[in-house]
Amino acid sequence: MRCIKCGARFQNDAYDLDKLRRENKLPPHCPNCQGIIQPDGVSFGEPIPDDASRKSNVLARMCDLMLICKTTASVYPFAELANIAKRNGARIVEINEEPTRLTEEKISDYLIQGKTGVILPQIVAEVKELLTHRKRKRRVFHA
Ligand SMILES: [Zn+2]
Repeated sequence: MRCIKCGARFQNDAYDLDKLRRENKLPPHCPNCQGIIQPDGVSFGEPIPDDASRKSNVLARMCDLMLICKTTASVYPFAELANIAKRNGARIVEINEEPTRLTEEKISDYLIQGKTGVILPQIVAEVKELLTHRKRKRRVFHA
């Protein structure tokens, strides 16, 4: 959740939206400035917060690997992030049910076709397994 006035961010569970709805106290207000608190996402037609835009561009230039998940990659300026990462040497892995322009323009190095909600947990489990294996290997090496 994010305050639209001062930009302060809050955990989703900081506000019991059901309770506020029952008490007719929506939308929630920021404890710092009394601005309106809303989900920290960007809806169509809404401007992207400057800090999020700047940080995304910096991270896109720095990353070694970018996962592009569940998107048509057609809404700018964020659709450009994969191109920025690619130009700076990152590998691009696209996880989508259908190919996108990133697939067609060969911006993506890999397309894992399927549901993000199924594939991402599998990737996380594999990475955890690799990290655990690596730790075990190091312990043996140093013993
Ligand atoms: Zn505020």
